[in-house]
Amino acid sequence: IPVQAFDLVIFGGTGDLARRKILPALFRRHCAGQLPQDARIVGAARRALGSDGYRDLIRDALQNELSGAEIATRGEELERFLARLEYLAIDAEARDGWAALKQMLGLPSSNRVRVFYFSVGPALFAPLAEQIWTHQLADDQTRIVVEKPFGHDLASAKALNRTLAGHFDESQIYRIDHYLGKETVQNLMAIRFGNMLFEPLWNSQYVDHIQITVAESVGVDGRASYYDKSGAMRDMMQNHLMQLLCLIAMEPPAKFDPDAVRGEKLKVIRALEPVEPHHIVRGQYASAEDGAGRDDDQSYRETVEDPRSTTESYVALKAHISNWRWAGTPFYLRTGKRLVARSSVINVFFKDAPHSIFGADAGRHANLLTIRLQPNEGITLKVTIKEPGPGGMRLIDVPLDMSFAQALGADIDGAPDAYERLITDVIRGNQTLFMRGDEVEAAWAWTDPIIAGWTSRGDVPKPYDSGSTGPGDADLLMRRDEREWRGIN
Ligand code: NAD
Repeated sequence: IPVQAFDLVIFGGTGDLARRKILPALFRRHCAGQLPQDARIVGAARRALGSDGYRDLIRDALQNELSGAEIATRGEELERFLARLEYLAIDAEARDGWAALKQMLGLPSSNRVRVFYFSVGPALFAPLAEQIWTHQLADDQTRIVVEKPFGHDLASAKALNRTLAGHFDESQIYRIDHYLGKETVQNLMAIRFGNMLFEPLWNSQYVDHIQITVAESVGVDGRASYYDKSGAMRDMMQNHLMQLLCLIAMEPPAKFDPDAVRGEKLKVIRALEPVEPHHIVRGQYASAEDGAGRDDDQSYRETVEDPRSTTESYVALKAHISNWRWAGTPFYLRTGKRLVARSSVINVFFKDAPHSIFGADAGRHANLLTIRLQPNEGITLKVTIKEPGPGGMRLIDVPLDMSFAQALGADIDGAPDAYERLITDVIRGNQTLFMRGDEVEAAWAWTDPIIAGWTSRGDVPKPYDSGSTGPGDADLLMRRDEREWRGIN
């Protein structure tokens, strides 16, 4: 079903995110017939580049980004899509270009849905909001999309929220966490609240502990200067892992609607206990010279400008949620770069059966629910059965395994990617999969003391080998609790 007519202005329309994610997503929605005929996309950035020049830039970008087969079958559509694009040179911090944008948008008389996508560095979020306000480009039908990072700490996130709230209603602000647009992340809610099977067991009485792993195999190359000021805690934990934690731990919302879902997520974040310093491990990937890494890789410190940087590229921690449902169940979260594989997985470890009728020899067998977000999305439930054969009552574990690709066949390939889903939600005015201002602030309020503790203690991250599972201390964190990380694969 096509969305309503809209004008989408992408500030930073020539940038990396616009070229690699936003425009390919819009192109795919165009091909799916979801963009109405007169929907317009306006790229805006500082560079002087006419609309034709912009179309050339985006043609190249799409040809790079999309597969050969996709381009071959959609060649004609590509030109039709490019015909929707316009370009204006606008500096977020100067006066030029704004009057032309206003005219291009047909203001003041246009009443179309108008989306302003802030795909620029975070320092420009507030100036853009002010410019849109000053030039009267916004009305009730206007939405703004704000990319990450949303603030650097609680104070900056609050300041940004205040600025945005000075010009826009909260219902017009779409703070992107692209993890929420992933099909499998939304599936977390379907699995929990669409099945009777799991929810009755989803609490500290039956769940021993939960592990959330977001592992990347890439390093910080290409983003080094930004990343070194941020680190894994700010770049991944405060947002993506926190969102996964919320979806796993939240109470059932009464409805799948923005305020119900976000209200429940907020309660989880507010119920998080401060993390004890000895429940956190920081790491930084090393090179051969450090005596740890492989020689074909640059270490973190060789990649960033500061050879003595103490920014973490890995963090693992144990979190507790102080509420009725989760008191006593630890949540172990870890994320890092240059790890052995790219893998995002949630493991829910259930408790052992309270009594084994098969005797001590049968061993310990507990159920494990694995939710794989990427790659090879799917769920696996480890169940215990009798070992086949005449050898008596011996127990073994077998997986009830479901890969979404196998179970759903070709359908999953046609599923929209995160940006496709999120951009269409913005146009439709659905905020369910976007973060509310108070949620982001609560996440920073939990994160800030952790980072402040590192600074005051002069904490130095532990080196770990590129291609490993992270620093040994992270294993120790688990071993102290007589548990171990599930492998990254
Ligand atoms: P980029 O540096 O590649 O692009 C920045 C864009 O902003 C360019 O189009 C540039 O011309 C424009 N710009 C710079 N100064 C401007 C000004 N004064 N006025 C108008 N336009 C100006 O950055 P990016 O990687 O595309 O990232 C954009 C935003 O998205 C950032 O906030 C980033 O943190 C976020 N983000 C990016 C990625 C990614 O994969 N690239 C992923 C998640 C979030």
